Order: sequence, then C-alpha cells, then structure tokens
Amino acid sequence: MLEKRDYYRLPWSMNDNPIAWLEVTDICNIHCEGCYRQYMTGHKSLEQLKEEVLFFMKWRNPDNFSIAGGEPLIYPQILDLVAFIAQQGVKPVILTNGVALTPEFLHELKKAGLAGFTMHVDSHQGRPEWKNKNEKEHNELRQQIADMVAAEGGLFLIFNSTVYPDTFHEIPEVVRWGQANIDKVQGLVFITYRTATTEDNIATDTNDQEVDLSKLSYTRESFHEHFVTGPEVHDIIQKNFPEYEASGYLGGSVRHDSYKWLIGAMVGSKKQMYGSVGKKTMEFAQIGHHLQKGRYMAYMTSGKIGQKVFWMSHWDKTIRQARKIRRMDVLRHPGRLFDGIYVQSIGIIQAPDILPDGRADMCDSCPDITIYEGKFVNSCRLDEYRLFGGFVSMLEKEKKETEPEP
Ligand code: SF4
Repeated sequence: MLEKRDYYRLPWSMNDNPIAWLEVTDICNIHCEGCYRQYMTGHKSLEQLKEEVLFFMKWRNPDNFSIAGGEPLIYPQILDLVAFIAQQGVKPVILTNGVALTPEFLHELKKAGLAGFTMHVDSHQGRPEWKNKNEKEHNELRQQIADMVAAEGGLFLIFNSTVYPDTFHEIPEVVRWGQANIDKVQGLVFITYRTATTEDNIATDTNDQEVDLSKLSYTRESFHEHFVTGPEVHDIIQKNFPEYEASGYLGGSVRHDSYKWLIGAMVGSKKQMYGSVGKKTMEFAQIGHHLQKGRYMAYMTSGKIGQKVFWMSHWDKTIRQARKIRRMDVLRHPGRLFDGIYVQSIGIIQAPDILPDGRADMCDSCPDITIYEGKFVNSCRLDEYRLFGGFVSMLEKEKKETEPEP
C-alpha cells in the first residue's frame, strides 16, 4: 500500500510546469488502440505552432516541449519547428511511434536542436510487421530503435507503452530489457489504458445536451475488464525488481487517494541495479533545477550520472541503501569500480478515471496540457473540445435513465 507521505509531491502547476504539450498534427501513420486523437483538421501551420510555442513560453514556463500529434515525424516542417523551439532556450522532445525514423532523419533532427525522444512502442499499435507479437517480442523493435538513436549519440531516449489488462503481466519484461540497455535508454513510461463505453455511459455537453459518445476515439462499445491502476503497475515492478521505488507523484484532481503520476529513478550500472533515488533526491533535483534555471525539470539529458548520485546519501535513505549495495558489489567485483553509473527513470501514468457522479479524476497539475483556441486544455480530452465544445460529463446509463425529470 503506497503512502503519499513517502513520496515527493511534484511542485508543478498550471503556470510553472516543465512540460509544454504541443500538437503539430492529428494525422498518424499507424493506429494505436487507446489513442486520444483522431483525424479532423490535419497539419497545423508553422505560423500557428510558433504562436503556440510563444504562448507556452509566456504562460507555462516549460523546460521542454513535448512535440506530439498525431505523428510529429510526418509533419512537413518538423525541422523548422524543432529549431524554433531550441532557439527559445528549452528542450524540443519528439513523441513518436518511430515508424518514419531513419538514421539520416535522426541526424537532421539532432542538427536542428532536438534534445530527445519519447518513443511509443507497445503491442496494441497494429504495426503491420509486429502483429500478434507480445510485449517481450516488441523488445526487439525497442532494441532496433535504441541502437539507432545511440549510434547518432547526444539524444536522450525514453520508451513509453500503454498498459492493457492483457499486457500488464509483461511489464517486468519491458523493465528487464530497459535495465539491460541503461546506457542507451534514459527512461520507461507506463500509461494505463482507459476507455468509456457506449454500452454503460451517456455523455452530456456543457449545455446538458446528450452527445454521441461514439464519436470520440477513446470510447468503445463495451469493456468488461479491470482497469489497471498506477499503484498496481508500481507493485508489479517492485515485486520483480525490489531495488525499484518511486520518489515523486501527482495526485488526482478530484480524489485525494489517487496516484496519477508516479515517478522514480533507478540507479545502476550495465551489470547491476543498485537501487533508486528517494523523495529527498527528487525534491533536491526539482528545487535545484528551478534555482539554477528558473524552471522545474522533467527530463535529464543524459542518464550517465556517475558517483555524484550518491552525494545525497546523507539526506536520502533510499539512495543510502543503493550506495550500500554498490559498495558490496565493488567489494565482490573490484573490476566494477570504474563501471559507468546511470539513472533510468520509470514513470507510471494512470489516465483519467470516470467517477460515478460523472466527473473525471484527472492528473492534478496536468503536465500534458495543450492549447486549444487560446486556452489550456488537458491533451487527453482535447477531442471533447474539438467535437462538443468542452468537456463532457459521463453518467452511467442506468443512473441517467432513472434521474427524475426537473
Ligand atoms: S490529465 Fe493530463 S497528464 Fe493526465 S492523462 Fe490527461 S493529459 Fe495526461
């Protein structure tokens, strides 16, 4: 059972948040189950995107721009956009499925100023050559991409995957693969799948008019399985990798007991994992970054941190434990004294939950807020604005049907 007092509540807020979520297109070259976006308007103009960048710089204080979509690598002016963001003194990061990535394109992106990638790979994306392959088998694709990015050098790489009830048990396989590639992969993110169903839900718009829920890409006719939660993902990782411990969190916008974001960072070498950073180190990293750069931090540009990660042992009992295991490891294998020491983050995101009263429990201080018509909107629910003019309220069908007439 997780206790919030054991984790650092990330200090991010609406106007001081390290992440700016910039959507460049709603076109994609594959179709992932659980995708929040559908094709409606196509590519945005570069002028509009530059305006959105400046809007974020004015109102968000970001440390990085998550360039998302749709699929941003098929956006024709992606190099110009990356260069424009880099000119603002922040990190451009591309969130991609990697299908359109080639070594030559990678080189151009780096030259334009790209800082890194968040690479979405999982077994529910309908990739033609990877059909019927499980998560473990998808590690081969992750490896191909990780090798390509490492060969270019100077770019960080994070893999994210959506977690479905039928892939939950395979999370350790992905973590194990990540650990074996700790020199190439700076982080892993697991996002728990959520959907509303037309079988169980009725939705109304801000004028209390019923809307056609099936128009949203993130609804389906029925779903009778258990939604995986963030704490369950945390537990399965910790059960298989006792050295793993989260250090920071974001709670829910409605429920006091939700864990919407759980963030941890494991410490290890290519040969052994030693432990994790604790809440004090997470706090120190956030506050220190803000003091130094005036912004909070979401991504480290390099995972190779060296011995300095143990400097926090005096204040942080979790990292103290990691240092102890490291010392024992070096005593047993003196040749490992000079092995590189890396950190690798593990993020767990529990997507919005529909509550019985029709509200959605979102991520408190949502880091993935985007812009719609001059306003910040949670990117996971943007299509409700695009289709119905605002967030919809969901009610369980039975409740709505038995509500008394006013
Ligand atoms: S509320 Fe924000 S951070 Fe949470 S899933 Fe939605 S867009 Fe992502």
